[in-house]
Amino acid sequence: MNRFMTSLSAALGLALASGLAAAVPASAATPDTAGGASQQRYAGSSYTGSAAERADNQAFYAAVMKSALAKQAAHPYLRTVTVTYDASNAPSFASEIAGAAQIWNSSERNVQLRAGSNADFSYYEGNDSRGSYASTDGHGQGYVFLDYSQNQQYYPVRVVAHETGHVLGLPDHYSGPCSELMSGGGPGTSCTNPYPNATEKRRVDSLWANGLSAVAKNASADAAR
Ligand SMILES: [Zn+2]
Repeated sequence: MNRFMTSLSAALGLALASGLAAAVPASAATPDTAGGASQQRYAGSSYTGSAAERADNQAFYAAVMKSALAKQAAHPYLRTVTVTYDASNAPSFASEIAGAAQIWNSSERNVQLRAGSNADFSYYEGNDSRGSYASTDGHGQGYVFLDYSQNQQYYPVRVVAHETGHVLGLPDHYSGPCSELMSGGGPGTSCTNPYPNATEKRRVDSLWANGLSAVAKNASADAAR
């Protein structure tokens, strides 16, 4: 681990500890130092779940960003961070996943999603009573789970784009309108908008601005709030 990643980890730990201490398991807040104890997976943010899941979103985002940036370290002056995903374990959602990636890629300049090997995160599909969600194991790897029955109820491209929004750092905001992607299942099953609104686009772009240096800065700013 280099010096930067150490300070990044500390800053993210601070950010989590200051605002979210009650909800974050200690091992999730400190993925680098928890060792084998944090092998267990944490349920993440579901499409229709509670706002208390925000802490897991943050941990997931931190893990994915760290994984992407570790690879990026070889190219420190590249403005755009590429986050690589593996969609091979969610074959039923191949077109929705590609569509969601396209939506995010056309919305952002500082981060881009790309399908490929050595992925930063993966999509999975199956049946889960919790519905679709984003999660992390606290060791730099995350995943998005897509639930079959929920994706029959809700518009699948919106569900996938929403869960991918967690990967890019956005929290849930279930009370928001349909025009807001991170309102998730809040506006009901009739909502089919798969696009982030202007505020959400800006927030993601600023979270990923200037690659490595910005991550530490954002984390410090969060900790100071
Ligand atoms: Zn969500």
